[in-house]
Amino acid sequence: MKTVSLVTLGFLLVGCDHSGGQSKTGNEPQVPADRPQGDRWGKIIPEKAEFHAASDVPQSQIRLTEKWYKVAAGAWGNYGPLEFWIVGKDEAAAEELDKKYCALRKRKDPTISLRHYRNREHNLVSYAKEGNAGLNTRRNEHGQWSGFIITMSAKFPGPGEEDYKPVVLHEYFHVYQHAHIHSRNEGKRESLNQKHPWWGEGGAEYMAQLLYSRQPGVRPGYLGEVMRRKLNSLKDLRDGENIRDIPYGPRGRIAYDLGAWFIAFLVHKTSEEAYLKGFFEDLNARGFEESFRKNFGISSENLLKEFHNSFLKLNLQDKMRIIPGKKNG
Ligand SMILES: [Zn+2]
Repeated sequence: MKTVSLVTLGFLLVGCDHSGGQSKTGNEPQVPADRPQGDRWGKIIPEKAEFHAASDVPQSQIRLTEKWYKVAAGAWGNYGPLEFWIVGKDEAAAEELDKKYCALRKRKDPTISLRHYRNREHNLVSYAKEGNAGLNTRRNEHGQWSGFIITMSAKFPGPGEEDYKPVVLHEYFHVYQHAHIHSRNEGKRESLNQKHPWWGEGGAEYMAQLLYSRQPGVRPGYLGEVMRRKLNSLKDLRDGENIRDIPYGPRGRIAYDLGAWFIAFLVHKTSEEAYLKGFFEDLNARGFEESFRKNFGISSENLLKEFHNSFLKLNLQDKMRIIPGKKNG
């Protein structure tokens, strides 16, 4: 289980397409910035997610994915439009699904180039080969369609692994984060979610594991086990290194793991309400730093200092005190 989790995270680093992965078709007419009238980005919507699966994906996996999407949307609100694309291990079946994917992209946004989609590097066949889960957020100044695309696969994690469930929640928390950033400008979107993984990945990982740990049937010690395992990354943090400075890439896992701890620390010091509601609601109008200060009463720099210089220096037992136990169930 431990090895599997580490492998999963390794693949997540590669597979989460946080750049947006948009097609830049060049001379298309520009859509007005931010949220024009009729654009429901960031609003809770009644439409449920769409599910598309390759022919070798069992119904049980589609139902499992749908179940955990519903848990996430029930807890954090139903944002979208959202599509799930699920592949199995059969590469030919994944290729068939990829054709459907390209056709649907073209139908939803006729301005995009189909050739770009067919030639893209990380397509559904690569998910069949390599496994992994990922979110692709589409919202930019060039395309007409804004929305979220989550890809799930048959391994790292597979539907038989417990990890599959919190990973669906993790990907959905990215939907929540990105739904709260209205701008279509890539630079602005990146600054509000932070370029490096400590904030966005830390938040998605901690909130996913926290929500999962509260579900009926999940063992009481679950969250403690998972968070304790993430502390293994402490040994890879260099002297005086700040998690904020670690980019996606080979050392990204340190920022995923300790970023999750940073969000646990932040929520412990303030509240889930301040993080989930306060911070995200103020983010567009005030920007990252001002929303941080307003809702948490401290600058991000100072809280990071406190996290590195005081909290991370505590012994294991004292660190574990901030991880909430299961109240019931
Ligand atoms: Zn992620």
